Amino acid sequence: MKKNKQNTRREFLVNAGKASMAAGLGMAVLPSLAAVKNSNASHPILGEEIPYTQRPLNYSYTSLEPVIDAMTMEIHYSKHAAAYAKNLADAVTAEKVDTSAQSLLNLLGNISKYSGKMRNNGGGHYNHEFFWRSMRAATEDNKPSGDLLKAIEKDFSSFDAFKTQFTDAGKNRFGSGWAWLVMTNDKKLVVGSTPNQDNPLMDISDLKGTPLLGLDVWEHAYYLKYQNRRPDYINAWWKVVDWNVVAGRLYDPS
Ligand code: MN
Repeated sequence: MKKNKQNTRREFLVNAGKASMAAGLGMAVLPSLAAVKNSNASHPILGEEIPYTQRPLNYSYTSLEPVIDAMTMEIHYSKHAAAYAKNLADAVTAEKVDTSAQSLLNLLGNISKYSGKMRNNGGGHYNHEFFWRSMRAATEDNKPSGDLLKAIEKDFSSFDAFKTQFTDAGKNRFGSGWAWLVMTNDKKLVVGSTPNQDNPLMDISDLKGTPLLGLDVWEHAYYLKYQNRRPDYINAWWKVVDWNVVAGRLYDPS
């Protein structure tokens, strides 16, 4: 299948840690172009294909220090995220999902047809896999470039204005959830948030679009180091965003 081929290539690029090289080749080669052709659908299911099972982290637990401490990374990945993956596997068995025929991306796009357990754990698993790959070792003055920066400046006026809006989305999400940068159906970049483990791929979500960047604002993501100071966690987190990976998720921004 054409779609699978593209996804395999995409997985390879991301797994090989060569997103920056891929970005240099041009954005158009990366995403699923088959999906873009469906853009007249009311809620086309675009976005990154992620397997049903947990992938190894592509860096160590200490790699994101001092922004995210090793203990938080270890518990977050090996306990919290692992539990979502296991519970997703249980739900998939119970609800007879043929994972060889239906992608996780497609399942999330039709999540209203499944149980609450599927919604919480399918989202939980997808969101964390997406999140891990969005980060790398901290750098000061970390910011995007090229087409991604242009798209951000077009829709938010400036990178700083975007950061403020995204930070506010994370700060103001009451309870647990995620802040997102998404590309909508009409190729506009939008910031928003989702509750619990929902995400913008879900048909039940108020915020819909192709996720480009997501931030976990559950307390388990920051409490050991930042305690109640969620804004401090978000402000520090900007240093570990892997903008090359985010750029690779942007499709045809023209
Ligand atoms: Mn989490």
